[in-house]
Amino acid sequence: MLDIKITRTQTPKEKPDETKLGFGKIFTDHMFIMDYTEGKGWHDPRIEPYHNLSLSPASMVFHYGQEMFEGLKAYRGEDGKARLFRPDMNGKRTNDTNKRLCIPELPVEDFVEAVKAVVKVDEDWIPTAPSTSLYIRPFIIATDDFLGVAPSKTYMFIIILSPSGAYYESGLAPVGIWIEDDYVRAVKGGIGFAKTGGNYAASLAAQVKAHDGGYSQVLWLDGVERKYIEEVGAMNIFFKIDGKVVTPALSGSILPGITRNSVITLCKDWGLEVEERKISVDELIEAQKSGKLEECFGSGTAAVISPVGTLRYKDDVMQIGDGTTGALSQKLYDTVTGIQNGTVEDKFGWVVNV
Ligand SMILES: *Cc1c(COP(=O)(O)O)cnc(C)c1O
Repeated sequence: MLDIKITRTQTPKEKPDETKLGFGKIFTDHMFIMDYTEGKGWHDPRIEPYHNLSLSPASMVFHYGQEMFEGLKAYRGEDGKARLFRPDMNGKRTNDTNKRLCIPELPVEDFVEAVKAVVKVDEDWIPTAPSTSLYIRPFIIATDDFLGVAPSKTYMFIIILSPSGAYYESGLAPVGIWIEDDYVRAVKGGIGFAKTGGNYAASLAAQVKAHDGGYSQVLWLDGVERKYIEEVGAMNIFFKIDGKVVTPALSGSILPGITRNSVITLCKDWGLEVEERKISVDELIEAQKSGKLEECFGSGTAAVISPVGTLRYKDDVMQIGDGTTGALSQKLYDTVTGIQNGTVEDKFGWVVNV
């Protein structure tokens, strides 16, 4: 149990218009902070009014990127209750990331307790309009002021909250995806499986290129042969090929998404065959040409399920199915969002009340 000291704001902000939330621009009244000092461990957990940080310009996080982050959401059900979706998985993944980046371990129970506590304090900020949610961004930064390259001896664990709008304004909308054949995101042995800023810094140039080409997201190929499918910007990727659900195996260079895990669990529960394996871009092109590529969708906390209408690879532009949202994509979206909102039975025990 954390002994969290709570200091409430004296000047609460006005709540935003729920129809104009967008993503990641508005922050709530409070934030969670906990410090780490070598020899002392994690200490001084507290919830304070949302405020700017004061850090030395020599803080290690600014120079060598020793930092990690997580992303999850709190949902307001039609019954008015606030729910979290599998927050323990975010806590476990935090430690997988931390281990790779030489950041000290944070007990999963403490992670979940901190998330719950700060969401509770700002519970009024969970929007109520359909498909809106409160995005939760926990992160850890290295704070030693030192320009040498070594693991920091001090850190801050912070959680900020941001009400976010409906990802889809009017039903699931298929996106166009750019298969990147030049830049790569990660290689096995690197930090691809860790949720850390460095992976995103490495992704920006390709994202700009895809946007310039008229595509909304990048689909990465493996960093060695540039032949096998990895994942999309901030989503894992699934294909339905000839009745089977296929997704790249977790090879060390792919982020192990919690939505990915939930999709696999649901598909298996529905009696579908699920294969986690290598998928080459050539196999996809073949499947599309022979009419066996039935569906393609991304999975991630932000969009839950993002149907893909077209995939572009070099000079090939492949339409998936008839270019509209597939039946499996729709069923997965409805089921996961239903569980999150309390309207679909939570048979796997994924939901945690705030
Ligand atoms: C966070 C993230 C995902 C999706 O993970 P979820 O736990 O499903 O939200 C996929 N890929 C990358 C690179 C990510 O950072």
